[in-house]
Amino acid sequence: MSFSSSVKSELCRLENMDECCVLSELAAVVWLNGAAAPAPAGGFNIRITTENAAFARWIYRSIRKYCGIIPEVTIRKSTKLKKHATYMLFMTSASGSGILLEKTGIAVVAEGGRYELAPVRKIDREQACCVKAFLRGAFLAGGSISDPEKTYHLELTSRTSEQADELRRLMGFYGLNSRTIIRKGSYVTYLKEGENIVDFLNVIGAHKALLELENVRILKGMRNNVNRIVNCETANLGKTVNASVRQVENILYIADNIGLDKLPPSLREIAELRLEHKDLSLTELGQMLNPPLGKSGVNHRLRKLDRIAEKHRGGPPGQKDRKTGEAD
Ligand SMILES: [Zn+2]
Repeated sequence: MSFSSSVKSELCRLENMDECCVLSELAAVVWLNGAAAPAPAGGFNIRITTENAAFARWIYRSIRKYCGIIPEVTIRKSTKLKKHATYMLFMTSASGSGILLEKTGIAVVAEGGRYELAPVRKIDREQACCVKAFLRGAFLAGGSISDPEKTYHLELTSRTSEQADELRRLMGFYGLNSRTIIRKGSYVTYLKEGENIVDFLNVIGAHKALLELENVRILKGMRNNVNRIVNCETANLGKTVNASVRQVENILYIADNIGLDKLPPSLREIAELRLEHKDLSLTELGQMLNPPLGKSGVNHRLRKLDRIAEKHRGGPPGQKDRKTGEAD
């Protein structure tokens, strides 16, 4: 099951909702997913369409309970993908579609020979429970959320710019910064940041999904930290290798131009060890000496070797005291 479907099935199982909220959620669905056609006997026939089976059941139960109407349900399976089905709930004016419109506060508006559904009045900011329910309905009607493992993206689709404006207005009550784009003739209002999406899931009451998303965010954060540490260690390793390459070059120069046997025994010992073990750290080299020597002691001797080679080459005096540059 996709993350989107699991969020939706969680929302469809919410219990103990107040009547005002159920009707507000239905208002969102009727407005966003409903269509009206004039009935021969007067009034309008209303059809609600959804692709989510759990949501279709929720709409059916809610309309039956709060409006006393029994919608006629048709399922249309897509011929290409047998998995996809469209659920249509149909209510004629004779069966009481007018009650649904009245209770949800949706009106049918005639526009150039077409019939559009529109809310009679906008939801008030003060009716917090119903604002949340409306957004929940909008998510169930035309929303989707990406798998947080992949990306943070939540969107609500709608048919008209008025619907998109209203969704942005309602999300704005909770400080959610949404944007709308037009995609394939639909208005897509979306949220991008993980934090915004967590807040939205909280608003619509998807608390289980919210926890799942937070877990993913924590794990992702930890993974990023581990990557940072690994990158940092790789950088240090690079420094160690560069220092070793320079030391070996200088020791070979001394061997060719001065002779290692001309060096004091303590320097000759470390020079030979460095040639033999090019990839060891200073600490590890020090442990191979008898008696063992600490990191700074080894560093001191290798720097002396650097200086001997540079002096012989007649290198710039500024480089005489440069450090080996090795990190821990
Ligand atoms: Zn309410």
